[in-house]
Amino acid sequence: MKNVCLAHNCIKCCLKTQMALNDSDIRKIRGLGFKNFFKVNKRGMRQLKNHNGKCVFHNGKICKIYNSRPIGCRLYPAVFDEFENKVILDNHCPFREEFRLTSTISQKIIKLLNELDENKRK
Ligand code: SF4
Repeated sequence: MKNVCLAHNCIKCCLKTQMALNDSDIRKIRGLGFKNFFKVNKRGMRQLKNHNGKCVFHNGKICKIYNSRPIGCRLYPAVFDEFENKVILDNHCPFREEFRLTSTISQKIIKLLNELDENKRK
């Protein structure tokens, strides 16, 4: 959770999450001793599971793996918009205007997308 999220007491992106995970995310979370925390979606990507409508790691107050959270969670609300073919701040984040979309963040999103694409083919 970022300062903006805390300031607004917002957990919207942790609700019914579809956050994709790369190899490194999965290794890191498994290293904490967790199992059975992701599923493979229709596009062949591994994504976080939900429990009672929230990310499986969110207990209603905090993210239980905050310091080891997936890279996509760290970068959100930056996402890749397939229609516009560019990185944007996601419209689903009610406070997106309070975030800055830097070129470093955009590059990280593109790198993540490439990794997710490679992981699909494994
Ligand atoms: S929806 Fe936006 S403000 Fe809310 S928790 Fe997610 S990133 Fe933070």
